[in-house]
Amino acid sequence: MHCPFCRHTDSRVIDSRTADDGTAIRRRRQCPECGKRFTTVESASLNVVKRSGASEPFSRHKVLIGVRKACQGRPVSEDDLALLAQKVEETIRAAGSAEIDAHEVGLAILGPLRELDEVAYLRFASVYQAFDSLEDFEAAITLLRAEREATGHEPDSSGIAPRT
Ligand SMILES: [Zn+2]
Repeated sequence: MHCPFCRHTDSRVIDSRTADDGTAIRRRRQCPECGKRFTTVESASLNVVKRSGASEPFSRHKVLIGVRKACQGRPVSEDDLALLAQKVEETIRAAGSAEIDAHEVGLAILGPLRELDEVAYLRFASVYQAFDSLEDFEAAITLLRAEREATGHEPDSSGIAPRT
């Protein structure tokens, strides 16, 4: 690693620690030539391939933006969102592939979002799965209800809030 200050072709690692819950390593380095210190961050490369065929680095931030939109007006905090985005990244990285489909990112969002807020989940699913009729919503809601009964959760009043 070249020194960013004097361009010396070598540097010495003086400290290294994991960051972002183990998905990255932060290294503190020192240049033996000028003595200045700098930090490098290393993480396994993970690219998302879009429908157009173009690929871009996975971005937790983009997951956040998409999910935040679906959560508008819902009792979901920024911490909840950050945790969800982190879960999504962990799920995707656990698959061990350096390149994944944008579609799989959407799939990885659906599960944790449903646990977080069912209304936000329906909103997200409606866009992601391109619902185009009331029947699509009905089918998704019926599925939610059926699975909720199967897991023994009591139906609660947070189901569907009236649009304001
Ligand atoms: Zn230097």
